[in-house]
Amino acid sequence: MKQMIKGSSWLSTLMSAMVNREESKGLCVGCLCANAINGLCSLCQADLPINRWHCRCCALPLAFSGDNHLCGDCLKSPPPFDRSFIPWRYQYPIDNMISRYKYSSQHKFARPLIAGFSHHLESVFLNRSDEKPTLLIPSPMLPARRRARGFNQARDIAERLGETLGIPVDTGVVRRVRKVQAQRGLSREARLANLQGVFEVCTDVPERVAIVDDVVTTGATMRALSETLRNAGAKDIQVWALARTPG
Ligand SMILES: [Zn+2]
Ligand SMILES: [Zn+2]
Repeated sequence: MKQMIKGSSWLSTLMSAMVNREESKGLCVGCLCANAINGLCSLCQADLPINRWHCRCCALPLAFSGDNHLCGDCLKSPPPFDRSFIPWRYQYPIDNMISRYKYSSQHKFARPLIAGFSHHLESVFLNRSDEKPTLLIPSPMLPARRRARGFNQARDIAERLGETLGIPVDTGVVRRVRKVQAQRGLSREARLANLQGVFEVCTDVPERVAIVDDVVTTGATMRALSETLRNAGAKDIQVWALARTPG
């Protein structure tokens, strides 16, 4: 497992990536002032809860500083993915912004987050192009849910990130067969059984991929999806998401 970005450089590159872009000036979605860049003013950007201290594998927020910690879950049972890039914690105002994007199709609330994340990833891979995934795979939704919502936010995020980073997106690699039930309270055997058969691979899988989603909560979905991709030939699997729920 390769080491994730260090806390301090993570923070500074993310903030400078968000602040330095001059395009798309307009109203801030947070405070409605007229000085927004990519939809957010500098004061509202500074209020976003950055996921500064986190597990170096699954990006679970941690309460202490350090660059090389693993959370209890990853220590007990190493996940089938290699590392995660998740810049924010799923708390106010990120939770509010993502909900309005996802459940009310108000895309303007996701625009500053996706722009900040994509420019940050650009800087991450600038000198580490060998670690850049060759394909982005949006976390698939069940068709009924996608129809009800009108769009798959994971696909939307992946397409915008892919455009900035020059990485293709493929929604046909894997499909979701059923939901992942809540894992908490289940025995190890029951957890493994619960993750079986949730996803099905439909085409060839490249060696270096990133799974893209809006929010990672328990990580069970990412484990199931990564396991499926690894069994189909993926060797380096990254998880990219906008936000991670605390514990
Ligand atoms: Zn603002
Ligand atoms: Zn972890």
